[in-house]
Amino acid sequence: MRFLWQLFLVALATASPATERGSINGCKTLASKFQGRVYYPDSTTYANETTAYWAENVILQPSCVFSPQNAKDIASAILILKSSKTKFAVRGNGHMTVKGAASIENGVLIVLTKFRQMTISSDSTVASIGPGLRWIDVYEWIQQYNRVVVGARYAPVGVSGFLLGGGISFLGGQYGWGASSVINYEVVTGDGKIIQANKNTNSDLFWALKGGGSNFGIVTRFDLQTHPTSQIYGGLMTWNQSTVNSAINALAAFAAPGGGIDNPKAALLPNVAIDPATKSQSAAFFAFYNDADARVLSNFSDTASLNLAKMTTYADFIAGTAAGAAGNFRAAFHCGSFKASSQTVKMINDTVTRDAYSKLANLEGVTISLSIQPLAKSWFAASRKAGGDAIDMDPSAGSLIVLNLVVQWKNASDDKKIATWSKDVLAKLSKEAKKVGLHSDFLYLNDAQEGAKPFPTYGGGKSRAKLLAIRKKYDANGVFQSLMPGGFKLGS
Ligand SMILES: Cc1cc2nc3c(=O)[nH]c(=O)nc-3n(C[C@H](O)[C@H](O)[C@H](O)COP(=O)(O)OP(=O)(O)OC[C@H]3O[C@@H](n4cnc5c(N)ncnc54)[C@H](O)[C@@H]3O)c2cc1C
Repeated sequence: MRFLWQLFLVALATASPATERGSINGCKTLASKFQGRVYYPDSTTYANETTAYWAENVILQPSCVFSPQNAKDIASAILILKSSKTKFAVRGNGHMTVKGAASIENGVLIVLTKFRQMTISSDSTVASIGPGLRWIDVYEWIQQYNRVVVGARYAPVGVSGFLLGGGISFLGGQYGWGASSVINYEVVTGDGKIIQANKNTNSDLFWALKGGGSNFGIVTRFDLQTHPTSQIYGGLMTWNQSTVNSAINALAAFAAPGGGIDNPKAALLPNVAIDPATKSQSAAFFAFYNDADARVLSNFSDTASLNLAKMTTYADFIAGTAAGAAGNFRAAFHCGSFKASSQTVKMINDTVTRDAYSKLANLEGVTISLSIQPLAKSWFAASRKAGGDAIDMDPSAGSLIVLNLVVQWKNASDDKKIATWSKDVLAKLSKEAKKVGLHSDFLYLNDAQEGAKPFPTYGGGKSRAKLLAIRKKYDANGVFQSLMPGGFKLGS
């Protein structure tokens, strides 16, 4: 009887849809062209590459893994995948917490592991970096030139997903999004061409890639404007259960108009931790000032239970975030935005904490981190000054708080409950914010949850139509919509 069932399953598999047959054919053709660079489930490389994600709940089982070595390999692979109608996914460093964004079932997973090039121009003002790098690799390398790039705040985050989604950095108040400092992209398009996108060549694509995500092609090199650096002030500050209110009060004061948020050199990576099981809170903030005189952060340094902030190099400061960015558990990001004010900080903290205590106390291993991120109007002005981007936030609308609600949990059986709770609590927050005039529509792609639609919120609603037209021009066959379906797509 069991044997008959197995035959039935084999028959089902052979009658499976075109995509699955395509993926097997696609793998075979790739394997014959790129010998030794296509990996199947029986290999260690397959096991390592398919599990190299920050959150374990996004891990899937592709039909095979392809590890290209250069842009030409990707260009040839795109033509093979197109002609065999094979679905595929591209992984930079696997930090996006959306299932299927950078992973795929029944398809080819293209990993950018080999794209680790780092070169710098003779005057040190332009760094050319590969999409397989992590930000800490770049910061540690570029330090020898007394330069810095506008990358992620956490050490292990991938270069490419971060830059394609915009990029929130400690340097944003001065230089805007991470993407604002990209001066050229090398891109493989849907018809297998390798092109450059910069302010003079393919300038429409250049604009679209600054926030447009994975909708236009596979980026194989980023050329970044570098910025001068010497010593900075920064480090971890923590508050325990009995002092956590001081952290929230300090953050509320920082977020108020005229507060620290208006000083472009000051930045915070604030995480307020909520433990629903013990009904307790604590806080861990990375505080940063791009100079020596960090008085603007004194509300934090004066009240922290532990203060590790000091004068140091940018690379050393970022290396200190690595422990806070360790992964390999079930986790998901959820995003909402609000007008920056003291009231906003308190509203987010009170609403989410109350709801988590009452609804999540009985789920195993749940922790919530409220990353209440201040994004100053100077940030949006700097982005426009650098040439503009698809996100196109209006500085005259004021500073924002971009909330990243990070939920971690233990059991797969709780996946749906967590997703529902997160959606509901964000809706509740947005309703409260609307009542008091503090709501913002903006959804930051890199912190957004599965199913969210960031593009209609860009440029006050004006960017999406332009993005769609640019996509039509550079990907007329919709390769990056249908054959590479994962992540945040523009739709039609
Ligand atoms: C611990 C942690 C800390 C974080 N800190 C920050 C932070 O400080 N600031 C911030 O803004 N964000 C931060 N993020 C969010 C982060 O920016 C996104 O998760 C981003 O996608 C990570 O880049 P990645 O290369 O690892 O992405 P991946 O998960 O590999 O890819 C994300 C998406 O981009 C696509 N993609 C990747 N590379 C390419 C390419 N070369 N060409 C075309 N498409 C590509 C993938 O297909 C996928 O859809 C953090 C995330 C985590 C988990």
